[in-house]
Amino acid sequence: MRHICPICGNCLSVEYKIEKLNGISFASISVDCGCGFKVKDVVIFGNKLPSKYTLKITSGEDLKTKIIKSSNCSIEIPEIGIKVEPDKLEGRITDTEGVLKEVLEVLSLYKSFLEDGKEKKHLNDMIKCVYEAMEGKRKLTLILEDPSGNTKIFSENAEREILMDKSYG
Ligand SMILES: [Zn+2]
Repeated sequence: MRHICPICGNCLSVEYKIEKLNGISFASISVDCGCGFKVKDVVIFGNKLPSKYTLKITSGEDLKTKIIKSSNCSIEIPEIGIKVEPDKLEGRITDTEGVLKEVLEVLSLYKSFLEDGKEKKHLNDMIKCVYEAMEGKRKLTLILEDPSGNTKIFSENAEREILMDKSYG
């Protein structure tokens, strides 16, 4: 099958790998074009339901928890009042620490657009909180919501809520 780049119209190189993590099969997809167009995503096979996972990060073990996170997944940390919408993120196999790093990247990017002042100070405080969580000095809650069902947190400590909202079709 030929894939055409939606930006420049050239042929795309598409890498497609079937992998397995703790008994769950999934495909990781990587698309790369010379023009800069890039897609990275993961798709879980089998029965999947729109899900919302809530993981309380309370120990070093929670930081190492494996996560399949698709490009449709949003990241929320209620303690610092942030929700990162999926359009800023790519799908990947990661762990809790990796997800926190993604949040840090987004926060740092926002910060670079701000002038010195109250808002920037607030962002600095948020960034500090995430770093403290990564060092085990602060407890944060990680909420991953994925209407496509292609996200999974591999931990007994994670609560999973099936989303039955009709807006997801
Ligand atoms: Zn292209």
